[in-house]
Amino acid sequence: MAKTKRIALAQLSSCWGCDQSLVDIHLRLLDVLPKLEIVYWPAVVDYKLHDLETLPKKSVHIGLVEGSCRTKEDLHLLEVMREKSKILVAWGSCSAYGGIQGLGNQWELKDLLNRKFLEIETITEGRIPDENVPEFLESIRPNPDLVEVDMILPGCPPTSDNTLDALLALLDNKPYDLPDKTVCDQCPLEREEKKIKQFHRTFEGKIDPTKCLLDQGYLCLGFATIGLCGALCPSKGTPCKGCFGPPPSVSDHGAKIISALGAIADMPAEKLREAFPDPIGSFYFIDYASSYLSKIRDKMRKDANR
Ligand code: SF4
Ligand code: SF4
Ligand code: SF4
Repeated sequence: MAKTKRIALAQLSSCWGCDQSLVDIHLRLLDVLPKLEIVYWPAVVDYKLHDLETLPKKSVHIGLVEGSCRTKEDLHLLEVMREKSKILVAWGSCSAYGGIQGLGNQWELKDLLNRKFLEIETITEGRIPDENVPEFLESIRPNPDLVEVDMILPGCPPTSDNTLDALLALLDNKPYDLPDKTVCDQCPLEREEKKIKQFHRTFEGKIDPTKCLLDQGYLCLGFATIGLCGALCPSKGTPCKGCFGPPPSVSDHGAKIISALGAIADMPAEKLREAFPDPIGSFYFIDYASSYLSKIRDKMRKDANR
């Protein structure tokens, strides 16, 4: 029997959906399980951090890290995973780009805590917890900016096939390269590259699910999003929100989206601004933490605290 390879799967601040997508592989897990020795996977087995910390350095062949670092505890776990893993994978869009929680980088930490624990309309006796909680980090940064990672596997979550294909490639010592194609390249709906005279929210009007959604004025971000999901949303008549992030050749997802919209929108700038009252949420839904804007803000924050 071929030698098994050691694998560790760790969760930082996240929804654990990437783990669920892996479990969703169902019977095809049998293709990979005999090749793996799982040494850490607290999502499904009662491992403790100590089990990972006491492993020898680089003794794990493949380390998958889900989620991003919101706390110092997360950061410690990420650093331990780096130390123990030969190949460290930033697994899922939280890990690769910071995730939805990265949108919090638009505000200061104290404002986020106040809003969450004191100001939310349904709170009656608010209190910011300060006992038995890990210390928060000032902002979210993508894991590849915090430790060296060997590859990213984006997606919210990556599809079961994405994770299975990546694992099979890594187990065979083959590279798993991300494609430089977009969701539009995988989409069955035909684009006419029309000029857009008006944008609609998804609940406005009636979507024709046979025609390109962007051509109909719905913000479908397939043109700027890496093609790994098989165009899951537009092929069901729902605009792509960009949850897999940009293709490898694009360094700033939102900037690419804004420049493309500027070219295809046939309307005054003011009308375009009005169409997107929350531009960061619309254009950087999953990857604001990896944007130039967030990095500039982080630098200003650090300079101010010096
Ligand atoms: S990438 Fe998406 S599915 Fe995975 S942990 Fe983050 S929010 Fe959940
Ligand atoms: S519907 Fe979206 S993904 Fe499909 S072709 Fe149009 S813009 Fe691209
Ligand atoms: S179509 Fe877009 S939003 Fe939907 S799963 Fe794919 S990348 Fe994510």
